[in-house]
Amino acid sequence: MALKLFNTLSRSVQDFVPLDPAGKKVGMYCCGPTVYDFAHIGNWRTFVFGDLVRRYLEFKGYEVNHIMNVTDVEDKIIKRVRENKTTLREFTAKFEAAFLEDLKTLGCREPHQKPHATDFMPDIIALIEKLIARGIAYKAADGSVYFSIEKYRGCGCTYGQLVKLNFDEMRVGERVKSDDYAKESVADFALWKARVPDDGEVFWASPWGEGRPGWHIECSAMSMKILGTSFDLHLGGEDLMFPHHEDEIAQSEGAAVQEPGQRFVKYWLHGAHLLVEGKKMSKSLGNFFTLRDLLAKGFTGREVRYLLLTSHYRETFNFTLDGLNGARQSLARIDECLGKLCELSGATTAEADTQLVDEFTAGLDSDLNIAGAWGAVFEWVRDTNRRLTENALTPAQAAAALAAWDKINSVLGISAAAESEAPAELLALLEERQAARKAKDFKRSDAIRDELKAKGWIIEDTPKGPKLKKL
Ligand code: AMP
Ligand code: ZN
Repeated sequence: MALKLFNTLSRSVQDFVPLDPAGKKVGMYCCGPTVYDFAHIGNWRTFVFGDLVRRYLEFKGYEVNHIMNVTDVEDKIIKRVRENKTTLREFTAKFEAAFLEDLKTLGCREPHQKPHATDFMPDIIALIEKLIARGIAYKAADGSVYFSIEKYRGCGCTYGQLVKLNFDEMRVGERVKSDDYAKESVADFALWKARVPDDGEVFWASPWGEGRPGWHIECSAMSMKILGTSFDLHLGGEDLMFPHHEDEIAQSEGAAVQEPGQRFVKYWLHGAHLLVEGKKMSKSLGNFFTLRDLLAKGFTGREVRYLLLTSHYRETFNFTLDGLNGARQSLARIDECLGKLCELSGATTAEADTQLVDEFTAGLDSDLNIAGAWGAVFEWVRDTNRRLTENALTPAQAAAALAAWDKINSVLGISAAAESEAPAELLALLEERQAARKAKDFKRSDAIRDELKAKGWIIEDTPKGPKLKKL
């Protein structure tokens, strides 16, 4: 069955058909973290959702080029750099390192590239120059460069593709310099922000004087430079729909760099927000959790990942500590079943059972209906446990069941306890190596093998697939 995804652009569920004429390669850009603090559990919901999309596409046989940017210059960062009396690089490096560590703890596959906005200044400037040349961007008296909504619309382009906007209430010529604004205040937004004293040492030279880019143009420039002017998938949390993604479309399509008839992005996917105990997370309510806060309470990355993967990505998810305890119990049920299957199968190998894989796939093909996929998993656990109790399984059947589990676990990324002796980040690397081998990227797979070895682990091929063994 074909994979179907809800495209925010068409507001409908569509068949996923990559732009690649061979139907194999997929370009996917996920808006990454703004590295001014530790990522919170809401952010992690969105990043784990991105990981699910990538893993499922790889499971379906696509060669995914997964790009996740690191926003290392924008309003909030500059404010914190000023408050902490530090430098931009020093400040962002700390939170980026923490982010990457957490990403591994949560068993997410590492993106193939993690571009930094500060390394793309020439591309950002070139894109703004294109918009100026087309008359869609202009320099204002304060030296900043703005995107003209009126001129863009005058070129026959639509502003308001992801969200509906009421232009009757819009006052032409108004400008907004901040990256964040509500859709009720649609205005010309900043592409380049002229240097002001508060920026301190954070500025770059440009044809319009010293300054820094707006947040939205960073993602347009980086995504198109790496994935091409038209690519398949662009992901983020629902709050990024407006203005960030709307402005990305306007900048990228306003520059008219696409082939005729092509869009900037074919499918836009947005994950719904996470609430904690039914409320929006906030430090003052005491319901604000980073991953580190949860690890300190004794939970594991695997448990958090499992919980974040239990709900459909387009539904608001209510995160609770009780839910995490429930995740622990559910994982224990899965682990117990897998442990018994391992014992019974011994060294026997077998082709994977198709039923579990088929039902799991049917769920996820339908706009990543994870509830359906989990339903298949727990039905399988129940049925397997029953057959184990009745001694109705042969070692070959147990091996076939385990092989089926391995297949679906390549999507879920919640390896069983027996394999979890190696830290989650190493298991994620092992999985990435499998994916690289599948994609015939032997350079990458060898590099991962060497990295694992350097960390004291060797890969051992077993009848149930590769495992990590301590040197
Ligand atoms: P930021 O680091 O603020 O740029 O956010 C990183 C990602 O987290 C973006 O895709 C946001 O849309 C997403 N995000 C922010 N808050 C939440 C939340 N409460 N639930 C889910 N995703 C969120
Ligand atoms: Zn972005």
